[in-house]
Amino acid sequence: MKKKDIKQLKLSVPAQETPISEFLTASGTFQDGDLLLNTQGLRLVSQENIPSSLEPMDNQITLADLETVKVIGKGSGGVVQLVQHKWTGKVFALKAIQMNIQETVRKQIVQELKINQASQCPYVVVCHDAFYNNGFISIVLEYMDAGSLADVIKQVKTFAEPYLAVICKQVLKGLIYLHHDRHIIHRDIKPSNLLVNHKGEVKITDFGVSATLANSMGQRDTFVGTYNYMSPERISGSTYGYSSDIWSLGLVVLECATGNFPYLPPGQEEGWLNFYELLETIVEQPPPCASPDQFSSEFCSFISACVQKEPRDRMSATDLLNHPFIKKYEDQNVDLAALIGNLSSPA
Ligand code: ATP
Ligand code: MG
Repeated sequence: MKKKDIKQLKLSVPAQETPISEFLTASGTFQDGDLLLNTQGLRLVSQENIPSSLEPMDNQITLADLETVKVIGKGSGGVVQLVQHKWTGKVFALKAIQMNIQETVRKQIVQELKINQASQCPYVVVCHDAFYNNGFISIVLEYMDAGSLADVIKQVKTFAEPYLAVICKQVLKGLIYLHHDRHIIHRDIKPSNLLVNHKGEVKITDFGVSATLANSMGQRDTFVGTYNYMSPERISGSTYGYSSDIWSLGLVVLECATGNFPYLPPGQEEGWLNFYELLETIVEQPPPCASPDQFSSEFCSFISACVQKEPRDRMSATDLLNHPFIKKYEDQNVDLAALIGNLSSPA
């Protein structure tokens, strides 16, 4: 692939904006197909039966009942806060995403909300509710008190293989749920979208929201963070499938093992000066691999099973769950919770 082609990829992002007002009903409710969002919550209704005004739903959280404890993170789309429900004392992560964005992007966000609300998997972050208010979509998420793998790597620098196997196993179970049960390609598997808690649980979050936002904003900085883990076929604009998530997982696991993003040239702390050079390298060059001098043969083989240039050569999430690398540590009582417990709070 030529540099020109990669540039065109970015320039081909549609620039046209649809006014938000087109999606707002007279009652201040944001409506997209059969999905309704307002300050009272999120409601799925059939197209034929959309009510003229929404009543508060039973047992629903309202935004007014959530008190901010602190800001816990910032992504390209907005801020994530730790909030506490005034009446129950329960804590949540509240993710606010500004909505002055294109219709296509907004549709994808709505899609994420639908998927998350329907999710019943211990390896996927629960979305409790969602609101549309004053140009922001606010998503009430399960709070993961150790932050993301990106936060954890900053402290531990690298993970030893037994911990990696335990992390991988959970992410693979989350991917199996998304791929096989829900037929969803995540599209944005990266360290900041794999969240961890003090129980040693690892869960997948963000179904394409951040990548889509970064894309629409066309900001190079956010762009870089989002596209590093993208598979060669996605960079080239080819068709892609579930195996695209497996590529991203391979890069994430290799980064967790070495402490560095796999394509980072040795000794270059600043990263890639030219973003297009990085994309070109991912597309043109052989994939990265784990060094057999530093890692077990099972680990090297696991990485190689994920990071294949040809999508059909990658193993599926289901097959990877039975990979010797995952099996190797299954009987060893690896205590990820203890490792996480020794870290200082992420924010
Ligand atoms: P990008 O927007 O570029 O995709 P990102 O994934 O870091 O980056 P967000 O999804 O907005 O952006 O998340 C920002 C940070 O907030 C995360 O890195 C994580 O530390 C924290 N965070 C997000 N969701 C939760 C959650 N449910 N529980 C605890 N912390 C969270
Ligand atoms: Mg995220």
